[in-house]
Formats: sequence, structure tokens, C-alpha cells
Amino acid sequence: MECFDTHMHSEGKGITELKAMAEAGIKLAVSCAYYPVTPSHSSTLVDMFRKLTTFEVERGSKAGLRLIPAVGIHPRCICEDWQNALSWIEENGKVVGEIGLETASEVEVEVLSVQLELAKKLDLPCIVHTPKKNKLEVTEKVLEVVDRSGIGEELVVIDHATSGTVEKIIKRGFWAGLTVQPGKLSVEEAVSILENYGFESFVLNSDTGFNDFEMLTVAETVKALEERFDSGDVKKVAVENGKKLFKLR
Ligand SMILES: [Zn+2]
Repeated sequence: MECFDTHMHSEGKGITELKAMAEAGIKLAVSCAYYPVTPSHSSTLVDMFRKLTTFEVERGSKAGLRLIPAVGIHPRCICEDWQNALSWIEENGKVVGEIGLETASEVEVEVLSVQLELAKKLDLPCIVHTPKKNKLEVTEKVLEVVDRSGIGEELVVIDHATSGTVEKIIKRGFWAGLTVQPGKLSVEEAVSILENYGFESFVLNSDTGFNDFEMLTVAETVKALEERFDSGDVKKVAVENGKKLFKLR
């Protein structure tokens, strides 16, 4: 079945790896902005956004993978003059991400709030990160900040959800992102969350980037789901929900 990896970082992948994803059935992916060291200046962010929306999209198409670029300031990429990167996002962004909270510091909350306001104003979908550390506590803070922004729930995916946070996320009407990779969810854990909560509110992703071991996990998860569930349901999490969220055809 064709599938959609709704959160990855294509910059960390070679063409051969992107091709392997496409060959495994992953024909569509959102490639999120993230810089692996804290940028020293907002111009680094802007150049990364330019690269993602041009060069990366072309590399994807050479590999048979349609890449949808997401631009935004990740909580681990906040430089001193971060505000200077906002106008580029406002003028060129189609998807805002990866944004979110890592430690829930004051500046992280400010950067997230401002980007959510921007997304609300422009009616753009958002990919919102939650951290590994203090998952429950920081996810609650993320939900509070998103609620306060007043952005429509249908535009927001709260990502890297776990069995401990998923209920809070979908109860409030947001999409929940299931990230299948070592250290996050295993295929079995993702399958069991879907078994418990149904297929309506979820999207799948690998968050694959600068490590190479998780790039096919969305296809692996979809295959495991196909063995156990109705193909109409599987199709929702494999591709349809993501297309709805990111307004794609
Ligand atoms: Zn990510």
C-alpha cells in the first residue's frame, strides 16, 4: 500500500536512501526544518528553509518521493535573532514545522506561540514536537499553548505521541503523530495504540533524518497493520489522514 511519512528530515538522507523509501511504498513525505546544531544566526534558518523548499524537493523527485517542505523554528534551533526568520515563513510557508517544546522554557513557549499565531492567521497546518524527556508534563504544556493560540484543531498534529499522551491529544481534537523508530515507538506499540484508539485521528511517521536505521518504519508499520485490520482503515493512517491534515491532493 502506498504510504505517507508525515515527518522526516530529508537533508540527512542520500538519494539512494530516498529511493529505498519510495521503493518501499513511501511516495509522499513531509520534510521538516531542523538544524542539527543551534544556528548562530537567523540567516542560517532562512537558508535552510530555502534549501528545503527548492533543492530538497528536487532531490526527492529524482528519487520518486514527493517531498512537502515544512518550515519553522524547532525548539532546539532557537537563535538570538529568531524573530528575523518569521517573515520568510510568513511569505513562503505552506506547512509550519517542526515547531514545539523541548524543555518548555520561557523562550521556547514564546517561539511556539508566535509561530502558532502565524499559522492560524495563514490557515496553515502545523507539526508540533513533544520531547522524550518529561514527555507527559511538556505535552500538557504544549496542549495549553496550542489551545491558547486558538488555532483550529484540524490544522495541528501533536507529534511523537506515546501510549501515555495519546488520549489527551485526541480528546482535544488534534491529530496525533505516531513516530516509529528506536527510542520512540516500536511497530508493535504503534499497532497497539491504533487498535485501542481507532484510525481516525492518527498519522504515521519515522522522523528519520541524520540516523539511518528508521527510514522504512512507516512502510513496515503499514504492512503490519494490513495483516490485522481492514484495508480501508489502514489506508486512513497510511495516507488519507495525512493528506487531509496537510491539505494535499
Ligand atoms: Zn523531527
